[in-house]
Order: sequence, then C-alpha cells, then structure tokens
Amino acid sequence: MTKNIAIVGAGFSGAVIANQLAKAGYTVEVFESRPHVAGNCHSERDAETGVMLHVYGPHIFHTDNERAWEFVNRYSEFKPYVNRVKAITNGKVFTLPINLLTINQFFNKTFRPKEAEEFLTTLGDKSIENPQTFEEQALRFVGRDLYEAFFKTYTVKQWGLQPSELPASILKRLPVRFNYDDNYFSHKYQGMPAEGYTALVQKIIDQPGVTVHLNTRFDPALKADYDHVFYSGPIDAWFNHAEGRLPYRTLDFETFRETGDYQGNAVINYCDNAQPYTRITEHKHFSPWEQHEKSIMYAEYSRQCEEKDIPYYPIRMARDKEQLERYINLAQQETNVTFVGRLGTYRYLDMDVTINEALITSDKFLECARDKGAM
Ligand code: UDP
Repeated sequence: MTKNIAIVGAGFSGAVIANQLAKAGYTVEVFESRPHVAGNCHSERDAETGVMLHVYGPHIFHTDNERAWEFVNRYSEFKPYVNRVKAITNGKVFTLPINLLTINQFFNKTFRPKEAEEFLTTLGDKSIENPQTFEEQALRFVGRDLYEAFFKTYTVKQWGLQPSELPASILKRLPVRFNYDDNYFSHKYQGMPAEGYTALVQKIIDQPGVTVHLNTRFDPALKADYDHVFYSGPIDAWFNHAEGRLPYRTLDFETFRETGDYQGNAVINYCDNAQPYTRITEHKHFSPWEQHEKSIMYAEYSRQCEEKDIPYYPIRMARDKEQLERYINLAQQETNVTFVGRLGTYRYLDMDVTINEALITSDKFLECARDKGAM
C-alpha cells in the first residue's frame, strides 16, 4: 500500500499536493529549506510599519481558472484588488498595460479606439510575419517608439539580455488595449488574500496527516524511505547539477520606509535608464482595506542568479531549453519522483497555473494509485 509521501518545498505546488494527498488518506512529510512556507509568495507584517510585506516581491492573484479560484477561496478570504501599474519613461508618467490613455498621452493625440488601433497598425512592422523574439513581437504590434519607451530598456534591466534574444512569449504576457481599461490583468478573478499569502498556504498545508519540516533540506538519497516524492525544488539541484546549472534571474530589494503615501500606487515601473531599478513597490497599496500611516517600499533590481541566491525567473533561452531537455530526460528515468512547479519544471508560472497544475498532478497520482489498488 502506497502511503508515505515526501514533498520537497512548501510553496503553492507542495502545499496543494500535500493538501490533496492528505485528504485522500496519505501520510505526508513536507521538507522546506527556508524558515517559512509559501516559497517566493511569502508575506509577513513589517514590524516597523505594520504593513503586509510581499517579502520576495509583488504577487497579485489573478485567474480565469474556476478550480484554482474556488480552491484558494476555501482557505482564505480574498479582498478585491485590481493591479494598476504606472510607468515612468522619458520623465513622464503613463498607465500600463499600453491602453488608449497611454497611446493618446504618448503621441499627444485624442484618438478614439478604432483610430488608435489603425494608428498602431501603421506603426507596427508588417514585414515581421511570425514574431519569434520579444523584439519582433513588440515591433510588429506596437512599433519602435512605444517599444523603446516602455519595453526595451526595462527588459534589458529585467533579463540582462537584449529583447532580440528573448522569446516573444514574455511580451505576450502583456495585452495592448484600445480602451481606457488599465487593469494590468485581463482575468475574470483578481484579489489579495486578506491575511497574506503565507496564512493562505499555511491553511492549505495544515491538514491531518501532514507534517512540515521547516529549515530542512531534503537529501535525494532519502528518496528510498518514501513511496513517492513530489519535488518542487530546482530540477538541476535534484541531479546535483550533473548537466550544469540552469540559469535564473534573481532579485535584490532596496528597502526604505517613509511616513504617508510615497508614490500613490502599489507598483511604478521605471522603463528607461534614468534609474537602475526596474520598479518600486509600495506594499501598503496591496492592502487598500488596511490603514497604515507609515509605508515600506522596495526598489527592485534584477541580476543573474548565483549559487547562494534565491532563484526567481527561469531564463529559458534556446540553449537553456536544450540543457533543460537533458534534465527532463533524467527526470523521466527517475522512479517514484514527480517534478512540479516553477523550479521543478523550470517554467515562468503564475500562481494560479501552479495551483491548477498541482491539483491535476494530485488527481493523476490518486487515480493511478486507485487503478493499482494501492488505496
Ligand atoms: N515589461 C516591460 N516593461 C514594463 C513591464 C514589463 O518591458 O513596464 C516586459 C519585461 O520584459 C517583463 C515582461 O514584460 O519581464 C513581463 O512583464 P510582467 O509584468 O508580467 O512581469 P513580472 O511581474 O512577472 O515580473
């Protein structure tokens, strides 16, 4: 009878799988190397300001996925929150994602939707038929001026690479709108967990049958003690980096505090080279239902992830994907281990996608166990 499960990592992937398997009667041990659950979504109150801090940078929950939304709402109240990002470039403030106000202010126009759409069509480079790179995608759909003002420099700061070297998929995350909707996300549901992400993940994970070991690294050699391991750590670390280190970007945050309202908005992007950081986050605006006199800010810097750093964004250039393929081959040969989540599969995943995938992984595992008569 398959009973003992080890889960490596207590982020959304690990927490959701622990929850689902424990409910199905399994005994689950979760191993988390950090002193807290929730991975990079971890939030905690800043002692000095009382503000709920997104410790590893801003996280806004948004989804079209009914199952993921229903799941998270079972474990936390979600407060309405709409992410409206501002961008500073060439000494002016604009709204993002690129929308009718951005276009009109940028070009000093008073276009209506159809006119703006036609105008952007004239700016786009139609010779690029099938955009592959970030740069081609931008030039094709918004033209050179908007690309250079909003995307080019920000992307170099964020990724340390030229947009001509990055995949179009990164830019496809951002819509272009021909109305005045400046909601950064286009999803049906959007919100913030009332008591932060860590309280939410804690509730998901706190099930009878689940034991969480914080500050504990899982040694892959211990795999034999368990019937199955779900691993949400970096896939290359499981194999002791046998195929080399998969590259990541990491983030540094310069923290500062002020009294009152520092920037009037949760997120302001700095899209040109006037500032070395990519964005400033003012955390109290992520909890608009709370009142705080003092404020805490993060100026965010992105750089290449070194061995000692916390990995954030998988880079996924063509050569990284070849290296990843070699790890995927190794992973397929591994028995009784499932690789999950952003680090386990080396993909740029939003929280809702991570949760949905973890639910599907749990379903499949339980279905398989039932078929084998192991439950
Ligand atoms: N981006 C940009 N300028 C901006 C915002 C985003 O060039 O003002 C690009 C950048 O390459 C970024 C990508 O679009 O990595 C995706 O943006 P998103 O806001 O989804 O990034 P995240 O919040 O996940 O870092």
